Amino acid sequence: MTRRYLVGLIGAGITESLTPPMHEREGRALGFDYEYRVLDILELGRRPEEIGAMLAEAWAEGFDAVNVTHPCKQLIIPELDALTPDAERLGAVNLVTRGAEGTLGHNTDWTGFRRSFADGLPGVAVDLVAQIGAGGAGAATGYALLDAGTRHLLLVDDELERAEALARSLGELFPDRRVDARNALNTAEFGGLDGVVHATPTGMKEHPGTAFDVAALAPTAWLAEVVYRPLDTELLLAARARGLRTLDGGRMAVGQAVDALHLITGVEPDAERMRAHFLDL
Ligand code: NAD
Repeated sequence: MTRRYLVGLIGAGITESLTPPMHEREGRALGFDYEYRVLDILELGRRPEEIGAMLAEAWAEGFDAVNVTHPCKQLIIPELDALTPDAERLGAVNLVTRGAEGTLGHNTDWTGFRRSFADGLPGVAVDLVAQIGAGGAGAATGYALLDAGTRHLLLVDDELERAEALARSLGELFPDRRVDARNALNTAEFGGLDGVVHATPTGMKEHPGTAFDVAALAPTAWLAEVVYRPLDTELLLAARARGLRTLDGGRMAVGQAVDALHLITGVEPDAERMRAHFLDL
């Protein structure tokens, strides 16, 4: 008999999310009866603090797993029986699975970026990297960069306190690396970088423009974008026009879903097919 999976996404303003159709298409391609429901707290008139109750309701309805997004990635932690070591270190959960041992919180945002980075920018130098943006996405990408071997990470955020807070927490997790917080970089500093991760909302329709000028980067530098709506941001287009190696934000969005689907079903999804689902949506 076909194995049935019921999965959900809890968060605010998520009705347009591409994660549900990505999961459903790939889950069905893998031969499962796979249903993915959106549980938007705004639509449902719930408060983020009700995440524990919403989770209990999901289990009562027979959900196998629940993805969690803004603004619940931290709020959910006290509601869970256990966390994976990485989710614990990051202090953020975007997937909850349930088994004989109880509920387990995972973080596939950072593994999704790691996967996308390895697939999309294989072999690039990562010694000295700047990351623009130290918010939720930036916590995951910064962790992934240090995990990938970055020795000196410059965290840049125009709200310096945010860069400082993330630099402190990542510096504690990776004590043999250097993580500095800045509110801007000068042209010479940009010129010495191996690459840049862009993790601010700049480039989205509501936040047009670019957060920095790629003209300052060395010709050997790479650029990884986290914004995926639109997929080809102004920043990516400018970097490509300069001939730089680039990674679009869609790869991270697909990567987190690939890893989540694997954790939920125990079957390794076809990452390239999931990318094709994503591009088709
Ligand atoms: P956030 O609000 O938590 O963090 C953004 C940070 O960028 C803030 O600290 C802000 O001060 C800083 N910032 C904004 N403009 C800046 C600028 N011009 N220069 C320097 N710093 C600036 O947001 P978030 O949740 O981290 O999301 C950021 C972007 O990442 C959004 O576009 C989101 O859609 C995208 N995202 C993508 C994925 C993916 O899978 N590809 C996953 C999560 C988020």
